[in-house]
Amino acid sequence: VGFRPFVYRLAHDLGIAGRVCNDADGVLIRAEGLPQDLARFRASLRRAAPPSATIDEIAVEPAEGCGYEAFEIGASSLSSRPKVRVPHDLATCAACRSEVFDPCDRRHGYPFTTCTDCGPRYSIIEGLPYDRAATSMRRFVMCAQCREEYGCPEERRFHAQPNACGACGPRVALLDREGRQLSRGEDAVRAAAGLIRDGWIVALKGLGGFQLLVRADRSGPVARLRSKKGRPSKPLAVMVPSLEAAARLGVVGPIERCLLASLENPIVLLDRQPPGLARGGSELAPEVAPRMASLGVLLPTTPLHHRLLAELDCAVIATSGNRGDEPIVTDERDALGQLEDIADAFFIHDRPILRRVDDSVVRVMDCGSVTIRLSRGYAPFPLPMIERLIQEAGTDPGAVLATGGQQKVAVALWSGSQAVLAQHVGDLDGAATRRAYAHLVPDLCALYGCEPVAIACDLHPDYSTTRWALAQGRPVVRVQHHHAHAVAGMAEHGLLDREVLAVTWDGTGYGPDGTVWGGEALRASVDRYERVASLRPFPLPGNEMAIRQPRRVALGLLALTFGEDAVLGNAGGLARLELAPCDARTLLRMVRRGVNTAWTSSVGRLFDAVAALVLGAGEVSHEGEAAAWLEWVADPTVNDAYELPIRPPGHGTGIGDPTIPRGDWQPMMSALCVDLAKGVDPGVIAARFHNTLARWAAAVVVRQPLRDIVFSGGCFQNRRLTEATLRAVQASTGARIYGPGQIPPGDGGLAAGQLAIALSRLTNRGVQGFHS
Ligand SMILES: [Zn+2]
Ligand SMILES: [Zn+2]
Ligand SMILES: [Zn+2]
Repeated sequence: VGFRPFVYRLAHDLGIAGRVCNDADGVLIRAEGLPQDLARFRASLRRAAPPSATIDEIAVEPAEGCGYEAFEIGASSLSSRPKVRVPHDLATCAACRSEVFDPCDRRHGYPFTTCTDCGPRYSIIEGLPYDRAATSMRRFVMCAQCREEYGCPEERRFHAQPNACGACGPRVALLDREGRQLSRGEDAVRAAAGLIRDGWIVALKGLGGFQLLVRADRSGPVARLRSKKGRPSKPLAVMVPSLEAAARLGVVGPIERCLLASLENPIVLLDRQPPGLARGGSELAPEVAPRMASLGVLLPTTPLHHRLLAELDCAVIATSGNRGDEPIVTDERDALGQLEDIADAFFIHDRPILRRVDDSVVRVMDCGSVTIRLSRGYAPFPLPMIERLIQEAGTDPGAVLATGGQQKVAVALWSGSQAVLAQHVGDLDGAATRRAYAHLVPDLCALYGCEPVAIACDLHPDYSTTRWALAQGRPVVRVQHHHAHAVAGMAEHGLLDREVLAVTWDGTGYGPDGTVWGGEALRASVDRYERVASLRPFPLPGNEMAIRQPRRVALGLLALTFGEDAVLGNAGGLARLELAPCDARTLLRMVRRGVNTAWTSSVGRLFDAVAALVLGAGEVSHEGEAAAWLEWVADPTVNDAYELPIRPPGHGTGIGDPTIPRGDWQPMMSALCVDLAKGVDPGVIAARFHNTLARWAAAVVVRQPLRDIVFSGGCFQNRRLTEATLRAVQASTGARIYGPGQIPPGDGGLAAGQLAIALSRLTNRGVQGFHS
């Protein structure tokens, strides 16, 4: 982040002699000067630090003078376990951007312009400390002018590792689908923009991987991209040239504005105008993000993106360059092979991407900015609260890796000196993503110079990450899914030292009582949990199939509410589910006989079932689709709710743990079906459903004496649900409320919780106490 150059300039200004270098523990500064100058120097270190720098701690010790005559920057010393934070990839800063668009600047138009405040880092680093020789920029020999900037302390590019210009740095080229070069340099930028303007799909080698670009304002090209990518309905993110352009597509509040313009450069989920009222309607094809309350928008990441957007007059889809759910492609040779059927042309460059980093996704809620996907700009994400856990325990069990879950996987690592949550990998259902995962783990351990002595993973025996963990031949710590969610939420707010009540709602998590959990309230601390409330279980006819076909879940709920015969006679509106009576009968028989039917207490699945009934979302292409649709239609002015009473332990079907109170959805299902039969507006029913869950959470919370309430799990990516629930709980208790934040509330944050739990158990009992 240009910290050493900053120290140099500061020392120089204050007349301080000495030396600054990176070492294993961070930055070491030897400063010699008058006491008052040294005091000012020390105070300014934190105050005037570069915008992208984070200072964890400044420790000062007196030392013997060495008689330095000036201030110098020392070479970095190699170390095996660097404590220095790995620098994040940052978007182009304002100064570099104005150079790129300044016809008099020597970098006019140059797509790889960077300085110490911006540019690629994590994605181009081979090893630490962060020096040019240890990055993929090492193959480019700086020209005399660049070298002068790099060596001159007065320059903005002093020790900027990716420093380059048109004469010496990376270059772009445009290739056709066979890999033949169509054009280079300036011509390539204009030609690529021309192809996008004409509606073609261009695969662009971006900062952390390939992206697929297509103009976002015309249905034809967007629909073509969707069909080629095999992505029928999952929302696509849109890149726009400016904040003004973003504000035409969605609602940009002050926090959204900061996030959009930040150097972290995430995709920000903006609220769309209600259907029919969209201001920028004609600027965006309806296929971009169908049936979503939000629209993912980001500003240009690199000068290359800025150039392309400036050449175009429309918003551009910028979606991950991958096939289906495979990992994003980083290398042009792979791109030509894997994206050949999707892209019409390839816009590439010759700076290797060493680490795959997707775009991050954030969403602003009442409780602040919530990370939906943690990746470029944020990863590796420091977890100082987990480091403190080790410091306070006084014993270090050695490096520990946490594997994450099955969907939206990210790993977390305690290296022996720092704890981090690494970048988003994806869903491990496909072999290609599993290979990417198997590659990422050793890469991360090598970067941090550690070898894990133990591995934390989920309780689910069939998760790819569980299988991977068990195959490593090292002690394994198994962590219950919702306990991990709870502790991830506790880590977010620095609550690892206490017991909290954690409301953990998601789609699916392995429960030790033989059911699928997902609507849980846990009394949790970092080393144990107790389930204190849950939803009454309902069946998932066909298990995985029930996730893809919410109509199956709805059928099960209707049968339990009205009785099988009544349901087959269309009580509750079976016809809405578009299920043939013979199929319905077969599914109900499966449930009765317990064939291929798990039972669940999942709030996520309840969302699916309600969306199937109310909106006809009988089948979905990705998890969360039905819930997002329900959130989108929910009428914001509706405040009433259905009833979801809490039944005492022992009440019910005898499935799952009989010792806990259960939220009974049956009265809600009956009332909801009455509303449907009366023709009540789906937006009103959807709103009542959200409010019902919020009030149920409040009713659960008031029965517990705990003073700190944490909310975690994938359902809290739903803004309407999160805000309603936090408000309802706030109104009914004097306890402190902690919503989701920077650690993703969904399974992308799971590994942070797993890591804290494993470290706590290992420091108490030692690695030897744990064998799989
Ligand atoms: Zn810059
Ligand atoms: Zn140069
Ligand atoms: Zn989960």
